[in-house]
Amino acid sequence: MVNLKEQYEQIVKEREKTLNALKELENNEVLKRYLELRKQNENLAIKQLNIYKKLKVEEYDSCNHIWVNVLHDYDSCEGRSDNYYGCIKCGLDQRVFEITSRLRSIDYLTLEQQIMYDYMYGRYVTYKGINTHISCDLDIAREIYSRIKESHDNIDDKSVVELFETELRLVKKKQ
Ligand SMILES: [Zn+2]
Repeated sequence: MVNLKEQYEQIVKEREKTLNALKELENNEVLKRYLELRKQNENLAIKQLNIYKKLKVEEYDSCNHIWVNVLHDYDSCEGRSDNYYGCIKCGLDQRVFEITSRLRSIDYLTLEQQIMYDYMYGRYVTYKGINTHISCDLDIAREIYSRIKESHDNIDDKSVVELFETELRLVKKKQ
């Protein structure tokens, strides 16, 4: 018991010393500036993130999507099948809904996925643009799309889809 009391008093003394040292530091100009800058940096990061989200929403809004089927999910127990689509132009990816329903949480989404989730929630995004119903990997599809765009200026979406199908066939042959 005595020992505990001694320990307690020792700690009280040490804390007092520590608090005094902290108070002294609070008046230090360099430290004041450091704390100011940290606060400023935090505020800027919040602003930057908000603008980034708005930019992505603008990008999704202005995209006349070209969809490919990125996941066909079949539940043999329930006999239910779901198709998830991804846009080869802006990268919108409905698989965020598969992730959130599988993990029963939106906490596992990356920032990009969270923005997509918020954007697509309650929206029938696949009604806009062209749905090719072609099954393929979204990364490969987007790569092919950017190659097509690089070599064809002002190409319309219907022609993009035609070229895309041809290119994809070639890629699949090589695999
Ligand atoms: Zn799109």
